[in-house]
Amino acid sequence: MNILTFDVEEWYLEKILHDGRAFRYQQFDEAFAKVLDELDRLNIKATCFCLGKLATDFPQVVREIARRGHEVGCHSNEHVWLDKMNEEQLLKDTQEALKALENVIGKKVVSYRAPAFSITHQNKWAVNVLADCGIESDASIFPTSRDFGGYKAFPQDTPCIIKHEGATLKEYPISLTSILGKNMAYSGGGFFRLLPYWLVSKTMKQRDYNICYFHLNDLIHHRFEFKSKAEYEENFKEPGTLKNRIVRYVKMNIGKGDAYGKLQQLLTEHEFVSVGEADRLIDWGKVNVVNL
Ligand SMILES: [Zn+2]
Repeated sequence: MNILTFDVEEWYLEKILHDGRAFRYQQFDEAFAKVLDELDRLNIKATCFCLGKLATDFPQVVREIARRGHEVGCHSNEHVWLDKMNEEQLLKDTQEALKALENVIGKKVVSYRAPAFSITHQNKWAVNVLADCGIESDASIFPTSRDFGGYKAFPQDTPCIIKHEGATLKEYPISLTSILGKNMAYSGGGFFRLLPYWLVSKTMKQRDYNICYFHLNDLIHHRFEFKSKAEYEENFKEPGTLKNRIVRYVKMNIGKGDAYGKLQQLLTEHEFVSVGEADRLIDWGKVNVVNL
């Protein structure tokens, strides 16, 4: 089973980080229309995890996702990472996001992805908060180490039930592969841009479960600026040393040139379902239960 997901956030992040440059909005509108048209052409339904603020400030984007028959999931309200929030703040953030999204699409939202996959062993209580808010399925666990967060001790990279203090969610962890002895993601973000298409495709064919995750920014041929120390620290909440800034500059820009073509090939050569559809296809009585 291959699950297709997008994290949809760019318009709002552009607004708060750069005051909304018209040429960037236009790039997002055009790139997104192109992706949605391609999904229609191939009859693929995806899950688009959207920010609540996207529904508030750019409702046409969220409305169009729903109109085309894709699942609208929640990607938090304002893209604050969960490890920067306490329980009350996460509760408020999730409730506000769900209200904004549901207002626009007129339907309940039950799938969730945390910004930057920020559910880790340090904030397991997020499971209780999300379940209390009516979330049923989560795709926030990155079961190896990564730059920001990562849940290295998480025992598997296939769908399972997660339980914490009485709360339960269906979990879709990021799928991993071993490259040069190191567990790493391959099916989305910078990993998808970095790795050659044949390797991603071959890995997907060898596994029963793959979850792909994309951002429009992965697909647009726009070179990110080299950030000043102050801008870097504001954006990434870590020291803006020269080394950090160079590494991130390379990571954010690598493989941009042919990323859309790679995505197109991937969509043509593999079958995909949304998280909601996967929920119906999986026999949840047979998967592992992971007590966090
Ligand atoms: Zn995000």
